[in-house]
Amino acid sequence: MTTTLDPEYASLKPWRLPDGLLYGPFPTRRKGRALGVNLLPPSEKVCSFNCGYCQCGWTPRPPGKGDWRDRCPTTEQVAAGLERGFAQLHAEGNAPDAIVVSGNGEPTLAPEFPQKVERVLAARDRWFPGVRTMVLTAGTELGDPAIRAACDRLDERCVKLDAGDAKTLRAVDIPLVPFELADLVAWCRRLRDVTIQSFFTRGAVDNTTRPALDAWLARLREIRPLEIQLYSLDRVPAARGLRGVPRADLEAIAAEAAGAAGVPAQVY
Ligand code: SF4
Repeated sequence: MTTTLDPEYASLKPWRLPDGLLYGPFPTRRKGRALGVNLLPPSEKVCSFNCGYCQCGWTPRPPGKGDWRDRCPTTEQVAAGLERGFAQLHAEGNAPDAIVVSGNGEPTLAPEFPQKVERVLAARDRWFPGVRTMVLTAGTELGDPAIRAACDRLDERCVKLDAGDAKTLRAVDIPLVPFELADLVAWCRRLRDVTIQSFFTRGAVDNTTRPALDAWLARLREIRPLEIQLYSLDRVPAARGLRGVPRADLEAIAAEAAGAAGVPAQVY
């Protein structure tokens, strides 16, 4: 596939405060008003994937390269930023419906991720008790038991599964680290529970062909998620040539997934 980045598209998050830690709350289709927490550098994308549809644009380099870790907030800075930001939201009467650990790429790559998750939980308990916490992840780091345990501390784990076979996954998500779907399945099954999020595209890359869908359904049967969430393009993607999948087609895929995996499947 030939892809070029649309310079109008790539965008990092609009921060609430200049420390680059919090963004939102912003309205979402699934979780109401979601408050994002970014544990990565404020002005730089870091990810183990390079999905052509990413809201943050292209991933500049594999996560094993560069000194980006030095630009991540420390655990102490995360704790201080959460305290400052949550106190401000509380004073504004601006409580979120959900607190989402996500940000400028793959959150579980952040140094001291487990310790930072604990700080998120402590701040939530202090300022917004009862508000649900979750992580959005590509799942590449879930082989580490400490990362899995940290994800299990949150209320919800949303793991990306855009394809069930290696070739389609390479085309859609462009992994920048060694990554095996069989490993992802095994790691997901070791989590407390998991929600699967799947993105569908047509055009230069198509993960809705019959063979691609059959492979994806087989992985869903293995993972046995709590829920499957399907979506397609709702904005201009980083990669030119990707096309959205009509909602009716997504609904048909969702119905098939619900039947195959025996769990609710929703189109967003
Ligand atoms: S995994 Fe998420 S953050 Fe990373 S490139 Fe894909 S869409 Fe972007």
